[in-house]
Amino acid sequence: MLRLHNTLTRQKEEFRPLDPKNVRMYVCGPTVYDRIHIGNARPIVVFDVLFRLLRRQYGAAQVKYVRNITDIDDKINNRAKERGVAIGALTAETTRWFHEDIAELGCLPPSVEPTATGTIAEIKAMIETLVEKGYAYEAQGHVLFHVPAMMERPPLPQHVYGLLSRKNRDDLIAGARVDVAPYKKDPADFVLWKPSTPDLPGWDSPWGRGRPGWHIECSAMARTHLGETFDIHAGGLDLVFPHHENEIAQSECCNGRPFVRYWLHNGFIERGGEKMAKSVGNIDKVRDLLDEFPGEALRLLLLKTHYRSPLEFTKEGLREAKADLDYFYRALARVANVEAEQGVEPAGALEALNDDLNTAVALASLHYNSGLALKEDDPAKVRAAKAIIAAEGALLGLLQSSPDAWFRWQPPKSPAAIDEKKIAELIDLRLAARNAKNFKEADRIRTELAQQGVILEDGPTGTTWRRAS
Ligand SMILES: [Zn+2]
Repeated sequence: MLRLHNTLTRQKEEFRPLDPKNVRMYVCGPTVYDRIHIGNARPIVVFDVLFRLLRRQYGAAQVKYVRNITDIDDKINNRAKERGVAIGALTAETTRWFHEDIAELGCLPPSVEPTATGTIAEIKAMIETLVEKGYAYEAQGHVLFHVPAMMERPPLPQHVYGLLSRKNRDDLIAGARVDVAPYKKDPADFVLWKPSTPDLPGWDSPWGRGRPGWHIECSAMARTHLGETFDIHAGGLDLVFPHHENEIAQSECCNGRPFVRYWLHNGFIERGGEKMAKSVGNIDKVRDLLDEFPGEALRLLLLKTHYRSPLEFTKEGLREAKADLDYFYRALARVANVEAEQGVEPAGALEALNDDLNTAVALASLHYNSGLALKEDDPAKVRAAKAIIAAEGALLGLLQSSPDAWFRWQPPKSPAAIDEKKIAELIDLRLAARNAKNFKEADRIRTELAQQGVILEDGPTGTTWRRAS
């Protein structure tokens, strides 16, 4: 039984999908104007584990995971101007970078990855309905959601504005900017549509040429692909207010139905005791870290802390994660030729993940079973351990490469990079020398490779190599 912490109730609740044959989840994706940093990667990785868990529980074909690309935003427009590139070229390039980065973090692609620019008709339809129902109004080319209208006339009993973030009227007014735009009827009102000047992206609409606000993009993409009510909506803690609160307001007032049943939010990544953020200037971009560490070490680091807790990011932590993976892969190497036991359940990791995605405890189980694979002599226990490691690794999205590939990994931009083709040639030359009983030459080749950090291992099936650690 899966239990998840629901931000709506601030409690762990048993997860029961509306339809077990169609389990639906939405995660807010990136705004594509720059490389993602490790803080942006955290929700993508932790909710990838949830996706894997749901697929295991309900069947891969029964789970629909939607993660959007926000490709309309003022940050995008400004960056394109700074760099002197077309907006479409910037968003296409940044989207490609995002896909490359998260693939190296071992994330499965979502079932659907909609874009805001591909959902304009649906966005406009929702705004029109909100205006018709009296929850939104037009002012100076803008369309605004009117928060007091929802307060006075909740779309569902008790579904007033502020339900998710637990903000009251005073908080909302205090939170609104000091200089409230003059066209707003109420300081808490927020933008659904805004006018575009000719140099900015824009679409024709009943309110003139313009572009959507960020919140309505997600409401429309979610409704288009998951329906009016769905199971899980997730994202970073900083999205609770205003983004997710506003998504609920728009969707429920438009549809007249409950929007989302379980809201999940991951904690912040911190660096030097402060939240990692571009505005603070303490970010580590994923690509820069991938130049130094394998993506799997980044993934493991993100999973060693429970997703709701803050995570203090350090390079030392990444080195430890890499050392943990060395241990797991050494265990896999030792049992490489052992036949895995059939029908073994990854019970330890499953129990931990079913308890609100407790990845830290699931990893402890993976450690324990790797220890068995490394040290145990009883063949039955080793066969069971091998099966459990494989199943737990699949659930966590870890250990998906071979021990050989893991131990050969080298930083892509390292000046001391080892040429794999060259190594293969030298191994062949050494074999030829040995066959010719020229042991002096064979030893010389072994020494030459060792000086480059390459360790040869002669086994019954031939010679393999790994990097010296
Ligand atoms: Zn969103």
